Order: sequence, then C-alpha cells, then structure tokens
Amino acid sequence: MIFIENIKGRYSITDKCIGCELCVAIAPANFAADSDADIEYGYCYLIKQPDSAHEESLCAEAANSCPSDAITKKSVAYKEDQHP
Ligand code: SF4
Repeated sequence: MIFIENIKGRYSITDKCIGCELCVAIAPANFAADSDADIEYGYCYLIKQPDSAHEESLCAEAANSCPSDAITKKSVAYKEDQHP
C-alpha cells in the first residue's frame, strides 16, 4: 500500500516504512516524517518529487539506502515527460 500523503510522481513510500527517517536525512527537500501522534509507528512520505539532477540523485540514494525497501521508483520516463 502506498501512503496517500505521498506527492504523486516517480517516487513513493509504501507501508513497509518503519519510520527510521533515513530518507529525510538523505533528501530533506523531498521526504518528511509524519507527525501524527495517533499513529503508533511513525512513517515518512514524499513532500516533493525530485525536479533536478541533484534531488534525483539524493532520492535514488534514499531509495537504495532504505532498510525496509519501502521507497518505490517508477521506471518510466516520468522526468522526461515533465521536463521535455
Ligand atoms: S528510509 Fe525507508 S524505512 Fe526509513 S523512514 Fe524512509 S522510507 Fe521509511
């Protein structure tokens, strides 16, 4: 399941997230931690899809570093569609 809080785009965070916030540390412009105290286990979500080569690199690093493999990345040419 993909969290509805994710900004739609190439990257998403699924319910495999354990809320370690490593992705936020790596790419703070793109990932954020949920602050809802009602949720027993915190999780993170996409606040902004990458729109530069630098952010793309950091998001890819976050996806590759995620300990629970919770960050999905679409393999379609989404970026090319957005930035012809
Ligand atoms: S690195 Fe993975 S497990 Fe950790 S908060 Fe981010 S998405 Fe969740």
